[in-house]
Amino acid sequence: MKHDCFDIVVIGAGVIGYSIAFRLKQDRPELSIAILGDPVNSLMASRAAAGMLAPFGECAIADVFFDFCRESLLKYPCFIENLMGVSEMPVYLSMVGSLMPSSSFEGDWEERLRFFREENIPHELWTSKQCRQLAPAISETCGEVVWVGEGQVNNREMHDALVVASRKIGIEALENNVTGFLYDSSSIEAVVTEIREIRGQKFILASGSWSSKLGDILNVSLPMKPIKGQMCRLKMADHKFDYTVHGLKNYIAPWGGGKGFVLGSTMEDRGFDPKVEESVIQDLINRAAQIMPCLREALLVESWSGLRPAAEDLMPIMGKSSRYNNLFYSTGHYRNGILQTPNQADYIVETILETLTTEIKEFSPQRYNL
Ligand SMILES: Cc1cc2nc3c(=O)[nH]c(=O)nc-3n(C[C@H](O)[C@H](O)[C@H](O)COP(=O)(O)OP(=O)(O)OC[C@H]3O[C@@H](n4cnc5c(N)ncnc54)[C@H](O)[C@@H]3O)c2cc1C
Repeated sequence: MKHDCFDIVVIGAGVIGYSIAFRLKQDRPELSIAILGDPVNSLMASRAAAGMLAPFGECAIADVFFDFCRESLLKYPCFIENLMGVSEMPVYLSMVGSLMPSSSFEGDWEERLRFFREENIPHELWTSKQCRQLAPAISETCGEVVWVGEGQVNNREMHDALVVASRKIGIEALENNVTGFLYDSSSIEAVVTEIREIRGQKFILASGSWSSKLGDILNVSLPMKPIKGQMCRLKMADHKFDYTVHGLKNYIAPWGGGKGFVLGSTMEDRGFDPKVEESVIQDLINRAAQIMPCLREALLVESWSGLRPAAEDLMPIMGKSSRYNNLFYSTGHYRNGILQTPNQADYIVETILETLTTEIKEFSPQRYNL
């Protein structure tokens, strides 16, 4: 007979929920931990993402969010090494960096270079001629290119490894969706699924774009919505290119191990719409081929869409609930949840264990009275 009462119940089976559970169980093996939710939900962001670890491409100002993402990038090599060790599965991680062609910037090229200099971001400016030698796959029409010290992970391999590693260390994956809660005005007693009730001491809401639906059941209003992205993957016979390339409203992300390149992506405010449109995918391929012409000949392996969990202010919602004394949130990771995975796992685990030294007010659930 399986437990139906756990110390910790994690709601959401993406990289956010799994990384928190995994980190917590490694730290405190005596805790019983359950994870609920479908780990292969077709719209979940963790399997839909490109896996870019790109704080420098994504952020234009050095705020608290930038610092958090930068710290997370630094944690990546150890995080993946530990994960591969426990899961005994390969996870592609490349720290060779990203390329940003000047042709991809609409007027703010100099401003971007100044930001890199002022924030001591590892970068190098390549002339078009240098780019021919260092990254010949990039089109000559791209002009000057800046190399930036970022990373790239195959996020599906990382998610698979998190699922396997978590099971190996004794976390129970229940895979049912939560349909309700048993709670009073100050605490949660149990989650309800179609099959059973699962009691817990502490609950972590980490359900990505579905978090606000679960919040509604708890009478808390999470100001969040899904932002859809359409993506595709191209396979190339000869895979020698490990850089991630940031284009003009598009990107080319290598997934390693002969898996080719992921091309992305759209940003669509269309609710939980799963549609993948052929014309959109063709547009992604055309834009990518302007930067890397060899992609024009590459085989289209798959296309998909996924949902980025976006809070109103586009910041993550992380920390202890101010409404329920045993509820914690880690959601709203929007465009950079893969990048934030190691750091948010540390942050939430320290919050739960009450060892966190500095709370990040900008991410606090209290800003929305949650
Ligand atoms: C197209 C696209 C490209 C992206 N590219 C990048 C990138 O290159 N780099 C980067 O850092 N980030 C990227 N992101 C963002 C990143 O993927 C997300 O921020 C991150 O994966 C969020 O993870 P999550 O675990 O919170 O949510 P999800 O992965 O969406 O997981 C949510 C989980 O909750 C479960 N769930 C839903 N309802 C219930 C319920 N009722 N009960 C229990 N469980 C439930 C789901 O089944 C799922 O398991 C991208 C996202 C998209 C969509």
